[in-house]
Amino acid sequence: MTTTFATSLSTLSRLTCSKCGQPYPYSILQRVSDCCGMPLLAQYDIPSSFSKESLKGREGTMWRYQELLPVLDERFKVSLGEGFTPILELKNLAEMYGFEHLVLKDEGQNPTGSFKARGLSMAISKALELGVEGCIIPTAGNAGVAMAAYCAKANMSAVVVMPRHTPKAFKEECYWYGAEVHLLDGLINDCAAQARTLNKDGHLLDVSTLKEPYRLEGKKTMGYEIAEQGQWQLPDVILYPAGGGTGLIGIWKAFKEMIALGWLDKDVRLPRMVAVQAQNCKPLVDTFEGVQENSQHYNGLPTIANGLAVPRPLGEPLMLQVLQESGGTAIAITEDEMLEGLRELGQKEGLFVAPEGAAVWMAARKLLASGWLHAEEKVLLLNTGSAQKYLENIEGRYLG
Ligand SMILES: *Cc1c(COP(=O)(O)O)cnc(C)c1O
Ligand SMILES: [Zn+2]
Repeated sequence: MTTTFATSLSTLSRLTCSKCGQPYPYSILQRVSDCCGMPLLAQYDIPSSFSKESLKGREGTMWRYQELLPVLDERFKVSLGEGFTPILELKNLAEMYGFEHLVLKDEGQNPTGSFKARGLSMAISKALELGVEGCIIPTAGNAGVAMAAYCAKANMSAVVVMPRHTPKAFKEECYWYGAEVHLLDGLINDCAAQARTLNKDGHLLDVSTLKEPYRLEGKKTMGYEIAEQGQWQLPDVILYPAGGGTGLIGIWKAFKEMIALGWLDKDVRLPRMVAVQAQNCKPLVDTFEGVQENSQHYNGLPTIANGLAVPRPLGEPLMLQVLQESGGTAIAITEDEMLEGLRELGQKEGLFVAPEGAAVWMAARKLLASGWLHAEEKVLLLNTGSAQKYLENIEGRYLG
């Protein structure tokens, strides 16, 4: 049943600066744009021959969208089976709170237990294709674990820099994949500074969020899957736990590409995109609400949703653009609310989700209660990880 491709189907054509559009070649390693210091976006020669029907029989991973993915040579694909995660109906919670259509895409079922697998599978594959021998990453936890696993599979060396307060399971898993782990006091932006110091001579590729163009291409496959698994009917609202924002930006990019492909109608109503953050670290919410001009001086606190502790995301302008274009919003959830949501998803739906996913559920509840969401709307929650690695953050804190 597995399809093998003799030659590349990828239609990657160039990289462009996300701020000014200046083109950059993809044949060499690129980080952020030289012109603006902003993320680079992969662009494709949209193939007219790539039909929805051609997806039939392809492998049940994110790699089924090959034509719109950046890996040129199949031999460099580094895969652990990531993507094509299930979309589950939350019937019990829907009934309890009065949602007519409530579903959850469970990204916790990915390799290494989070959706970071998609981005790092893609980034490490491209790194391998471009001859990289080792990678480094500042991380709040899940991205480091995913990078370590894919580097192991690719025979590359891996250096992971994470906050000391990160739960032990994240550190352990990195060690077991053979990565070199550095711990320091602070949040992910402090880890980024440390990573730059460790990699002064540039012998490693830094795969920080949006500082290379390909993690985004892995994350965008969530958008393709949401459309395909929903028989090309999109939800009205998608709620996403935003840290660095690759998922939010990536899903929106996928929708635009599917319009160009003709897979979605030109005047389709795209979902309103909601960025969910932690009350302890809500730079995007504050900028969205006009409390600050941008997050360049924002200081955040740690949160039990480690993946949301990103005080100064490079992709902030891109995230704001998605919220504005889609008619979406940004909302913050407290630590106690996350625990309540975690307990509810466990008790009512049999799901043990990451605190980030619990935050997303609580955001849906609050937006329904405030009237921003309507009972009859189709609501999709993204649960981005599983709870197992977060035990120290949540143990013994049963609520209700
Ligand atoms: C990293 C992470 C997030 C945030 O993802 P971004 O792409 O940085 O916005 C959300 N949830 C979990 C579980 C994560 O690991
Ligand atoms: Zn530019």
